[in-house]
Amino acid sequence: MSERIDVLVIGGGPVGAALALSLQGSPVSVTVLEARSSPAPDPRMLALSYGSKLFLERIRAWQGIHDATPINTIHVSQKGGFGRTVLTAEESGVPSLGYVVSYPDIHRALVSGLDTETYLEGACAGEIDLSEEEGVVDFDYQGQRRRIAAKLVVMADGGKLVEHVKGISLDSREYGQWAIIGQVRTEKPHGNTAYERFTPEGPLALLPCRDGFSLVWTTSPETAREILSLEKEKFLEKLHDHFGGRLGEFVDAGAMSGFPLVLKYATPSVSKHLALIGNASQTLHPVSGQGLNLGLRDVATLSRVVMGAEEIGSGAMLGNYAGMRKMDRESGICFTDSLIRIFSNEISPLRMGRGMALASMDCLPPFRKWFSRKMMFGIRTGSIL
Ligand SMILES: Cc1cc2nc3c(=O)[nH]c(=O)nc-3n(C[C@H](O)[C@H](O)[C@H](O)COP(=O)(O)OP(=O)(O)OC[C@H]3O[C@@H](n4cnc5c(N)ncnc54)[C@H](O)[C@@H]3O)c2cc1C
Repeated sequence: MSERIDVLVIGGGPVGAALALSLQGSPVSVTVLEARSSPAPDPRMLALSYGSKLFLERIRAWQGIHDATPINTIHVSQKGGFGRTVLTAEESGVPSLGYVVSYPDIHRALVSGLDTETYLEGACAGEIDLSEEEGVVDFDYQGQRRRIAAKLVVMADGGKLVEHVKGISLDSREYGQWAIIGQVRTEKPHGNTAYERFTPEGPLALLPCRDGFSLVWTTSPETAREILSLEKEKFLEKLHDHFGGRLGEFVDAGAMSGFPLVLKYATPSVSKHLALIGNASQTLHPVSGQGLNLGLRDVATLSRVVMGAEEIGSGAMLGNYAGMRKMDRESGICFTDSLIRIFSNEISPLRMGRGMALASMDCLPPFRKWFSRKMMFGIRTGSIL
C-alpha cells in the first residue's frame, strides 16, 4: 500500500518526536516511524539549556516533565593545573542556565502529545528512495511490509541509516573514550551547581540531579571496563581521587553504564526531499552537553521553514534550512571536538595555556555572559529558539 504525505520522520527519539509535535496542529501532515515497540530504558540524564526549555514550553512538552533539576551555576576547572571559571544564571540574565532531565522523561513528555496515527511504534524503516518528485520509504509494521511517499523525508534515527543514503557522506572520529554514567551522592549538597572538570583522560561532569549528581566520567575503554567492574567502595574512592575533595566524600553510587564515544557528522545535511536532524545529522561527544540541545535547534528551525514553505521538500526550502543551521551546527561540532583535543593531553605548555584561558575568562564577565548565551541559545542565523 502506498500513500503520500507532507513529512515522514524516520526515528521517534526526542528529536523526531519534537519535530512531529511542533508540526502537529498545522496543515502539514506528518507521520513518525519508530522502530521500538515500547520505550527502551535509557540511563542518560541530559542537561537541557534554558533555550531548549523555552522551545519545549512552546511546543507544550515541558509541561509534561515533572522532574527537572535547575542548573544555576557551572564550575569549570582542569585537573593538575591552575585556572578555573564560573558561569552563573544571574550574570547571564536568565532564571537558570539549564535543567537536568532524564532521557525517558523528555521522551515520554514529547510522545504523549502525539496521537497514535502520527507516531507509529514498532515501525522500522528500511530502504529510502529519493527522486526528483518525492522520497519513498519502505518499512516493516505489524508484520507487514509497507511504503510511504512524502514530500520531505526527515531522518532522526540517531545516525543508523545515514550511511545507506546516496549522496550523503559520513565523517567520523573515534575518541578512544567511553562515558561512564550513573547517579552519585556527595557529602556536600550540590547547590544547583554543575561541575565540568577536564582531565588528561577526558572530561568529568557532575550535573546536579535531585538530591545528588548525575555523573558523566569519560576515560579510555580499558579504564572504563576496570571502573565498571569495581565494588561500590572502591568506585567511590577512585572517583574521589579523580575529582578531588571540593564536594567532600562521595558517599553513594547507583548502577553505572558505559557508552563508547564517537564524533559523526553527515555532509551535506540535506539532499533531494531529505533533511537530517539531531544525532542523524551530528553525533557529538557529550562534553558540555550539546547533542540534544543542538538537535532541538534543528527541529525549531526545520518546523518553521516547513510551515512557511511554498513547496515542502523543494530544493529552495532545503537550501534555506541548511543555510540557517550551518553556522550553529558547525560551531557545535568544532567546539566539542576542540575541547577534547585541547584538554585531553598532558603537554605542559598546553596545560599552562588552558589555565590562562580559564583564568582570563574568569576576569572577563562580558565574555562569560556572551559565552553562556551561545551555549544556551546557539548561534542564531535568522532562526530559532
Ligand atoms: C553519555 C551521554 C550523555 C549525553 N548528555 C547530553 C546532555 O547532557 N545534553 C544534551 O543535549 N545531549 C546529551 N547527549 C546527547 C543526546 O543523548 C543525543 O543528542 C540525543 O539523544 C539525540 O536524540 P535523537 O532523537 O537525535 O536520537 P536518538 O536518541 O538516538 O533516537 C533515535 C530514535 O530513532 C529510532 N530508530 C533508529 N533506527 C530506526 C529505523 N530504522 N526506523 C525507525 N526508527 C529508528 C531509535 O529507536 C530511536 O528511538 C548525551 C549523549 C551521551 C551518549
